[in-house]
Amino acid sequence: MRQLTCTGPDTIEWRDVPEPRLQSDVEALVRPLAVARCDIDLFLTSGVIPAREPFALGHECVGEVVALGGAVATLAIGQRVVVAFQVSCGTCRSCTAGHTANCDRFPVLSDYGMQPLSGIEFGGMLSDLIRVPHAAAMLAPISPALDPVALGSVSDNVLDGYRAVAPHLAELPGAEVLVVSHGLKSVPLYAVQAGIALGAARVDYASDDDEALALAERLGARPVRTDFGKTPRRYPIVVDAGVTPAGLRYAVRSTAPEGICHSVSFYAGGDVPLPLGRMYTLGIRFITGRAHAAALLPAVVPLIEQGRLRPGEVTTRVVGWEDAPRAYLEPAIKLVVRRA
Ligand SMILES: [Zn+2]
Ligand SMILES: [Zn+2]
Repeated sequence: MRQLTCTGPDTIEWRDVPEPRLQSDVEALVRPLAVARCDIDLFLTSGVIPAREPFALGHECVGEVVALGGAVATLAIGQRVVVAFQVSCGTCRSCTAGHTANCDRFPVLSDYGMQPLSGIEFGGMLSDLIRVPHAAAMLAPISPALDPVALGSVSDNVLDGYRAVAPHLAELPGAEVLVVSHGLKSVPLYAVQAGIALGAARVDYASDDDEALALAERLGARPVRTDFGKTPRRYPIVVDAGVTPAGLRYAVRSTAPEGICHSVSFYAGGDVPLPLGRMYTLGIRFITGRAHAAALLPAVVPLIEQGRLRPGEVTTRVVGWEDAPRAYLEPAIKLVVRRA
Protein backbone atom coordinates (compact mmCIF):
# COMPACT_ATOMS: atom_id res chain seq x y z
CA MET A 1 0.00 0.00 0.00
CA ARG A 2 1.01 3.64 -0.31
CA GLN A 3 2.14 5.64 2.68
CA LEU A 4 3.04 9.33 2.71
CA THR A 5 6.59 9.34 4.01
CA CYS A 6 8.94 12.10 5.10
CA THR A 7 12.35 11.08 3.77
CA GLY A 8 14.34 14.16 4.83
CA PRO A 9 13.91 17.83 5.71
CA ASP A 10 11.04 19.26 3.63
CA THR A 11 10.99 16.11 1.48
CA ILE A 12 7.81 14.04 1.28
CA GLU A 13 6.86 11.22 -1.07
CA TRP A 14 4.51 8.29 -1.42
CA ARG A 15 6.28 5.05 -0.59
CA ASP A 16 5.11 1.48 -1.01
CA VAL A 17 5.05 -0.32 2.33
CA PRO A 18 3.57 -3.65 3.43
CA GLU A 19 -0.14 -3.55 4.33
CA PRO A 20 -0.70 -3.83 8.06
CA ARG A 21 -2.53 -6.94 9.30
CA LEU A 22 -4.50 -7.67 12.42
CA GLN A 23 -2.09 -9.00 15.03
CA SER A 24 -4.54 -9.79 17.82
CA ASP A 25 -8.27 -10.12 18.42
CA VAL A 26 -8.58 -6.63 19.98
CA GLU A 27 -7.28 -4.77 16.93
CA ALA A 28 -8.83 -3.02 13.94
CA LEU A 29 -7.72 -1.89 10.52
CA VAL A 30 -9.01 1.53 9.51
CA ARG A 31 -9.03 3.17 6.10
CA PRO A 32 -8.48 6.94 6.56
CA LEU A 33 -11.01 9.07 4.64
CA ALA A 34 -9.88 12.57 5.65
CA VAL A 35 -6.58 13.42 7.30
CA ALA A 36 -5.73 16.75 8.90
CA ARG A 37 -2.27 18.16 9.38
CA CYS A 38 -1.47 18.65 13.05
CA ASP A 39 0.16 21.88 14.19
CA ILE A 40 3.31 19.94 15.04
CA ASP A 41 3.70 18.26 11.65
CA LEU A 42 5.62 21.05 9.95
CA PHE A 43 8.11 21.00 12.83
CA LEU A 44 8.62 17.30 12.08
CA THR A 45 8.90 17.63 8.30
CA SER A 46 11.18 20.68 8.47
CA GLY A 47 13.78 18.80 10.46
CA VAL A 48 13.53 21.16 13.46
CA ILE A 49 12.82 17.96 15.36
CA PRO A 50 15.41 15.75 13.65
CA ALA A 51 14.55 12.30 12.27
CA ARG A 52 17.15 9.59 11.81
CA GLU A 53 15.19 7.66 9.20
CA PRO A 54 12.16 8.11 6.93
CA PHE A 55 8.87 8.18 8.83
CA ALA A 56 5.14 7.94 8.07
CA LEU A 57 3.11 11.13 8.23
CA GLY A 58 -0.31 12.00 9.59
CA HIS A 59 -1.92 11.43 12.97
CA GLU A 60 -5.35 13.07 12.71
CA CYS A 61 -8.06 11.30 10.76
CA VAL A 62 -11.57 10.10 10.44
CA GLY A 63 -11.86 6.75 8.73
CA GLU A 64 -13.81 3.60 8.16
CA VAL A 65 -13.33 0.30 9.94
CA VAL A 66 -12.38 -2.35 7.38
CA ALA A 67 -11.30 -5.25 9.64
CA LEU A 68 -11.91 -6.12 13.27
CA GLY A 69 -10.51 -8.63 15.71
CA GLY A 70 -12.98 -11.14 17.10
CA ALA A 71 -12.94 -9.71 20.63
CA VAL A 72 -14.04 -6.20 19.60
CA ALA A 73 -17.73 -6.14 20.46
CA THR A 74 -18.34 -2.38 20.42
CA LEU A 75 -17.58 -1.66 16.75
CA ALA A 76 -18.62 -2.94 13.34
CA ILE A 77 -17.08 -3.25 9.89
CA GLY A 78 -17.90 -0.16 7.84
CA GLN A 79 -18.34 2.06 10.88
CA ARG A 80 -17.17 5.67 10.65
CA VAL A 81 -14.68 6.45 13.40
CA VAL A 82 -12.33 9.07 14.75
CA VAL A 83 -8.95 7.53 15.57
CA ALA A 84 -7.14 8.72 18.71
CA PHE A 85 -3.66 9.78 17.67
CA GLN A 86 -2.02 8.23 20.71
CA VAL A 87 -1.75 4.47 21.05
CA SER A 88 -3.34 3.31 24.31
CA CYS A 89 -4.89 0.14 25.71
CA GLY A 90 -7.85 1.49 27.67
CA THR A 91 -7.45 -0.94 30.58
CA CYS A 92 -4.13 -0.27 32.37
CA ARG A 93 -3.90 1.85 35.50
CA SER A 94 -3.01 5.05 33.55
CA CYS A 95 -5.73 4.56 30.95
CA THR A 96 -8.32 3.80 33.62
CA ALA A 97 -7.36 7.08 35.30
CA GLY A 98 -7.95 8.91 32.01
CA HIS A 99 -4.25 9.40 31.34
CA THR A 100 -4.34 7.69 27.97
CA ALA A 101 -1.39 9.74 26.62
CA ASN A 102 0.81 7.78 29.00
CA CYS A 103 -0.57 4.25 28.68
CA ASP A 104 1.48 1.81 30.78
CA ARG A 105 1.66 -0.71 27.93
CA PHE A 106 3.44 1.50 25.39
CA PRO A 107 6.59 3.65 25.48
CA VAL A 108 6.11 7.39 25.95
CA LEU A 109 5.02 9.28 22.79
CA SER A 110 3.66 6.16 21.09
CA ASP A 111 1.68 8.03 18.45
CA TYR A 112 0.91 7.66 14.77
CA GLY A 113 3.03 9.77 12.45
CA MET A 114 5.52 10.87 15.08
CA GLN A 115 8.34 8.37 14.81
CA PRO A 116 10.98 11.10 15.29
CA LEU A 117 9.61 11.74 18.81
CA SER A 118 9.14 8.17 20.03
CA GLY A 119 11.60 6.24 17.88
CA ILE A 120 8.80 3.76 17.12
CA GLU A 121 6.94 3.60 13.82
CA PHE A 122 3.19 3.06 14.30
CA GLY A 123 2.39 4.10 10.72
CA GLY A 124 0.80 7.31 9.52
CA MET A 125 -2.76 8.20 8.66
CA LEU A 126 -1.83 9.32 5.15
CA SER A 127 -1.85 5.64 4.24
CA ASP A 128 -4.36 3.28 2.71
CA LEU A 129 -4.70 1.44 6.03
CA ILE A 130 -3.65 1.90 9.62
CA ARG A 131 -3.50 -0.73 12.33
CA VAL A 132 -5.22 0.15 15.61
CA PRO A 133 -3.75 -1.98 18.42
CA HIS A 134 -6.67 -1.48 20.84
CA ALA A 135 -9.75 -0.75 18.78
CA ALA A 136 -12.31 -0.36 21.59
CA ALA A 137 -10.11 2.16 23.41
CA MET A 138 -8.78 4.15 20.47
CA LEU A 139 -11.72 4.42 18.07
CA ALA A 140 -14.68 6.72 18.67
CA PRO A 141 -17.72 6.09 16.44
CA ILE A 142 -19.07 9.24 14.81
CA SER A 143 -22.16 9.89 12.73
CA PRO A 144 -21.66 8.99 9.04
CA ALA A 145 -23.96 11.93 8.23
CA LEU A 146 -21.15 14.34 9.07
CA ASP A 147 -18.62 15.39 6.42
CA PRO A 148 -15.32 13.57 7.12
CA VAL A 149 -13.40 16.65 5.97
CA ALA A 150 -14.88 18.64 8.86
CA LEU A 151 -13.76 15.97 11.32
CA GLY A 152 -10.19 15.49 10.18
CA SER A 153 -8.60 17.13 13.20
CA VAL A 154 -10.75 15.61 15.93
CA SER A 155 -8.09 12.95 16.63
CA ASP A 156 -5.80 15.50 18.24
CA ASN A 157 -5.88 19.30 17.77
CA VAL A 158 -9.64 19.72 18.36
CA LEU A 159 -9.30 17.79 21.62
CA ASP A 160 -6.25 19.83 22.56
CA GLY A 161 -8.17 23.09 22.23
CA TYR A 162 -11.17 21.71 24.10
CA ARG A 163 -9.27 20.41 27.12
CA ALA A 164 -7.53 23.77 27.56
CA VAL A 165 -10.83 25.44 28.48
CA ALA A 166 -13.50 22.83 29.26
CA PRO A 167 -12.49 21.85 32.82
CA HIS A 168 -11.83 25.46 33.75
CA LEU A 169 -15.18 26.73 32.47
CA ALA A 170 -16.80 23.90 34.42
CA GLU A 171 -15.08 25.25 37.53
CA LEU A 172 -15.69 28.93 36.67
CA PRO A 173 -18.93 28.98 34.64
CA GLY A 174 -19.19 31.93 32.29
CA ALA A 175 -15.65 33.15 32.97
CA GLU A 176 -13.77 35.27 30.43
CA VAL A 177 -11.12 33.43 28.42
CA LEU A 178 -7.98 34.69 26.71
CA VAL A 179 -6.32 32.50 24.09
CA VAL A 180 -2.70 33.47 23.38
CA SER A 181 -1.55 32.21 19.97
CA HIS A 182 2.15 32.44 19.20
CA GLY A 183 3.12 29.75 16.76
CA LEU A 184 0.53 26.98 17.01
CA LYS A 185 -1.91 27.40 14.14
CA SER A 186 -5.15 25.54 14.78
CA VAL A 187 -5.19 24.41 18.43
CA PRO A 188 -5.79 27.96 19.74
CA LEU A 189 -8.68 28.39 17.30
CA TYR A 190 -10.28 25.15 18.48
CA ALA A 191 -9.87 26.54 22.02
CA VAL A 192 -11.83 29.62 20.91
CA GLN A 193 -14.62 27.40 19.59
CA ALA A 194 -14.72 25.39 22.80
CA GLY A 195 -14.73 28.52 24.97
CA ILE A 196 -17.69 29.97 23.10
CA ALA A 197 -19.58 26.66 22.94
CA LEU A 198 -19.12 26.09 26.67
CA GLY A 199 -20.47 29.46 27.70
CA ALA A 200 -17.51 31.78 28.27
CA ALA A 201 -18.77 35.33 28.75
CA ARG A 202 -16.12 36.45 26.32
CA VAL A 203 -13.23 34.90 24.43
CA ASP A 204 -10.35 37.15 23.40
CA TYR A 205 -7.65 36.03 20.98
CA ALA A 206 -4.17 37.53 21.26
CA SER A 207 -1.79 37.04 18.35
CA ASP A 208 0.66 38.81 16.06
CA ASP A 209 -0.71 36.90 13.05
CA ASP A 210 -3.32 38.79 11.03
CA GLU A 211 -4.76 35.72 9.30
CA ALA A 212 -5.27 33.94 12.62
CA LEU A 213 -6.81 37.06 14.17
CA ALA A 214 -9.28 37.37 11.31
CA LEU A 215 -10.29 33.72 11.57
CA ALA A 216 -10.63 33.94 15.36
CA GLU A 217 -12.93 36.94 14.92
CA ARG A 218 -15.08 34.99 12.42
CA LEU A 219 -15.38 32.25 15.03
CA GLY A 220 -16.71 34.75 17.55
CA ALA A 221 -13.61 35.86 19.48
CA ARG A 222 -12.44 39.43 19.98
CA PRO A 223 -9.09 39.89 18.23
CA VAL A 224 -6.26 41.42 20.26
CA ARG A 225 -3.34 42.29 18.01
CA THR A 226 -0.17 42.21 20.06
CA ASP A 227 3.59 41.85 19.85
CA PHE A 228 3.37 40.08 23.24
CA GLY A 229 4.74 43.16 25.00
CA LYS A 230 2.22 44.97 27.21
CA THR A 231 -0.74 43.04 28.65
CA PRO A 232 -3.93 45.09 28.45
CA ARG A 233 -6.09 43.16 30.92
CA ARG A 234 -6.29 40.00 33.01
CA TYR A 235 -8.47 36.96 32.62
CA PRO A 236 -9.42 34.12 34.97
CA ILE A 237 -8.71 31.54 32.24
CA VAL A 238 -5.78 31.89 29.83
CA VAL A 239 -4.68 29.40 27.17
CA ASP A 240 -1.02 29.44 26.15
CA ALA A 241 -0.64 28.00 22.64
CA GLY A 242 2.64 28.58 20.93
CA VAL A 243 6.35 28.20 20.77
CA THR A 244 7.93 31.45 22.02
CA PRO A 245 9.01 32.43 25.54
CA ALA A 246 7.59 35.92 24.89
CA GLY A 247 4.18 34.46 24.18
CA LEU A 248 4.33 32.34 27.31
CA ARG A 249 5.31 35.34 29.45
CA TYR A 250 2.40 37.29 27.96
CA ALA A 251 0.01 34.46 28.81
CA VAL A 252 1.17 34.27 32.42
CA ARG A 253 1.07 38.08 32.83
CA SER A 254 -2.47 38.07 31.45
CA THR A 255 -3.70 35.61 34.08
CA ALA A 256 -5.75 37.13 36.91
CA PRO A 257 -4.98 36.44 40.57
CA GLU A 258 -6.14 32.89 41.46
CA GLY A 259 -6.62 32.31 37.74
CA ILE A 260 -5.60 29.40 35.52
CA CYS A 261 -3.00 29.51 32.76
CA HIS A 262 -3.28 26.31 30.74
CA SER A 263 -0.37 25.72 28.38
CA VAL A 264 -0.88 23.37 25.45
CA SER A 265 2.57 24.27 24.14
CA PHE A 266 5.57 22.01 23.72
CA TYR A 267 8.69 24.08 24.41
CA ALA A 268 11.47 22.20 22.68
CA GLY A 269 15.15 22.93 22.98
CA GLY A 270 15.93 23.75 26.57
CA ASP A 271 14.47 25.28 29.69
CA VAL A 272 12.05 28.22 29.50
CA PRO A 273 11.90 30.59 32.50
CA LEU A 274 8.61 31.24 34.30
CA PRO A 275 7.90 34.16 36.70
CA LEU A 276 7.28 31.80 39.61
CA GLY A 277 7.54 34.56 42.24
CA ARG A 278 4.66 36.44 40.71
CA MET A 279 2.69 33.25 40.09
CA TYR A 280 3.19 32.23 43.72
CA THR A 281 2.15 35.61 45.06
CA LEU A 282 -0.98 35.83 42.92
CA GLY A 283 -1.91 32.16 43.18
CA ILE A 284 -1.77 31.56 39.45
CA ARG A 285 -2.20 27.90 38.57
CA PHE A 286 -0.10 26.80 35.63
CA ILE A 287 -1.05 23.61 33.83
CA THR A 288 1.05 21.81 31.25
CA GLY A 289 1.00 18.33 29.72
CA ARG A 290 -0.24 16.50 26.65
CA ALA A 291 -3.90 15.94 25.83
CA HIS A 292 -5.29 12.47 26.57
CA ALA A 293 -6.91 11.80 23.23
CA ALA A 294 -8.77 8.53 23.82
CA ALA A 295 -10.14 9.79 27.14
CA LEU A 296 -11.35 13.07 25.61
CA LEU A 297 -13.12 11.68 22.55
CA PRO A 298 -16.31 10.51 24.36
CA ALA A 299 -16.83 14.08 25.64
CA VAL A 300 -16.02 15.90 22.41
CA VAL A 301 -17.68 13.72 19.76
CA PRO A 302 -21.24 14.40 21.08
CA LEU A 303 -20.59 18.17 21.04
CA ILE A 304 -19.65 17.87 17.37
CA GLU A 305 -22.63 15.67 16.55
CA GLN A 306 -24.91 18.20 18.25
CA GLY A 307 -23.39 21.00 16.16
CA ARG A 308 -22.08 22.82 19.23
CA LEU A 309 -18.47 22.39 18.11
CA ARG A 310 -17.89 22.95 14.39
CA PRO A 311 -14.23 22.14 13.71
CA GLY A 312 -14.74 22.44 9.96
CA GLU A 313 -14.87 26.23 10.40
CA VAL A 314 -11.17 26.25 11.28
CA THR A 315 -10.15 24.40 8.10
CA THR A 316 -8.52 26.79 5.62
CA ARG A 317 -7.42 24.38 2.90
CA VAL A 318 -8.70 21.07 1.54
CA VAL A 319 -6.78 19.06 -1.06
CA GLY A 320 -7.18 15.70 -2.76
CA TRP A 321 -5.22 12.61 -1.73
CA GLU A 322 -2.89 12.81 -4.74
CA ASP A 323 -1.90 16.37 -3.87
CA ALA A 324 -0.77 15.50 -0.35
CA PRO A 325 3.02 15.39 -0.97
CA ARG A 326 3.09 18.94 -2.29
CA ALA A 327 0.34 20.50 -0.18
CA TYR A 328 1.62 19.06 3.08
CA LEU A 329 4.68 21.35 3.07
CA GLU A 330 2.78 24.53 2.19
CA PRO A 331 1.61 26.90 4.93
CA ALA A 332 -2.07 26.87 5.94
CA ILE A 333 -3.77 27.26 9.30
CA LYS A 334 -5.47 23.89 8.91
CA LEU A 335 -4.93 21.61 5.95
CA VAL A 336 -7.16 18.59 5.37
CA VAL A 337 -6.37 15.87 2.81
CA ARG A 338 -9.45 14.10 1.48
CA ARG A 339 -9.58 10.68 -0.14
CA ALA A 340 -11.44 10.71 -3.48
ZN1 LIG B 1 -0.58 16.33 16.81
ZN1 LIG C 1 -3.22 1.71 28.86
